[in-house]
Amino acid sequence: MNCTACGAPIEAGAEKCPYCGVMTPYGEKVFAERKEHERQEEQRRKSENAPCMAYASWLFVPAAYVLTFGYYAPYWYVSRAASLNKLYSETKMNLLLPVIYAVMCVAFFFLPSSFAALGLTDEQGTLIFGVLMFAVPIMSMVLALRVRRILQEHAGRYIERSEVIRKIAPSGIMLFLFGPAYLQYSVNRMIAMKILAPKL
Ligand SMILES: [Zn+2]
Repeated sequence: MNCTACGAPIEAGAEKCPYCGVMTPYGEKVFAERKEHERQEEQRRKSENAPCMAYASWLFVPAAYVLTFGYYAPYWYVSRAASLNKLYSETKMNLLLPVIYAVMCVAFFFLPSSFAALGLTDEQGTLIFGVLMFAVPIMSMVLALRVRRILQEHAGRYIERSEVIRKIAPSGIMLFLFGPAYLQYSVNRMIAMKILAPKL
């Protein structure tokens, strides 16, 4: 065999040309294998220390949502906040946000039947209810986007940025329509990818 760069004869099994130092095709193969092995080791080491999140079947969250008249949505955020804040991400979940969201959901549900009890005129009550009708979905989207960002930043420690955008809660429409159910689906996926550990 001869060196591809300088043409000098090289022994079979040599990784580099002894004259000019250029890598042989065999050397390149060995180098690539070594790199791949290191990458897998690194991945395995990271997965062993991956922080945990609760797993829930993809059917459970929408079912819980229906059964609790939607209250499961704010509950999902409150119950996941502590786990989310332990992930490898700069963005954090401020517990105040899901608590405000929960209060808004309760108000949205009970306000129409309790104008008088709260000392509100019909006009005042209708106005507040109208504001809530916009505020509840906005808050729900703010929370969903924040959780997506936390999950994506965390995933970015393990996988390529392009892969993160493609795999971790990629659809804004799904996020808007299904919020916590879609996010839980992404969490489950991250557990399957071993970049999150299932919380037992
Ligand atoms: Zn050479």
